[in-house]
Amino acid sequence: MVGPEVDDVVGHVSWTPLPVGPGGLRWRLTGSEDVLPAARAVIAWADLTARRPGRLRPCGNEECLRFLVDRSKGNSARWCSMATCGNRMKARRHQSRKSSAEVPRTPRES
Ligand SMILES: [Zn+2]
Repeated sequence: MVGPEVDDVVGHVSWTPLPVGPGGLRWRLTGSEDVLPAARAVIAWADLTARRPGRLRPCGNEECLRFLVDRSKGNSARWCSMATCGNRMKARRHQSRKSSAEVPRTPRES
């Protein structure tokens, strides 16, 4: 996911150390308020793909614009949410099977 757009975002922010307590440091992301939210998203995305490779992907519902972080044992999650996209896609598959089963057969097919 590295491209000119990402460079435009992360190229305008930096990590600034902040002293915390005796001998402690905390890092703060600094930069223009225009790019900070996008930079945080890019950094979180990169961190997640590095720590959990293959676990961040688009939702299996082609009409959905969300992504999911697959926490399943077999890395087989397909939907951003079972309550929304999962149930919607199951209902759609069920309706599709039902419709194809209801197609009247011609005498030759039976
Ligand atoms: Zn979805």
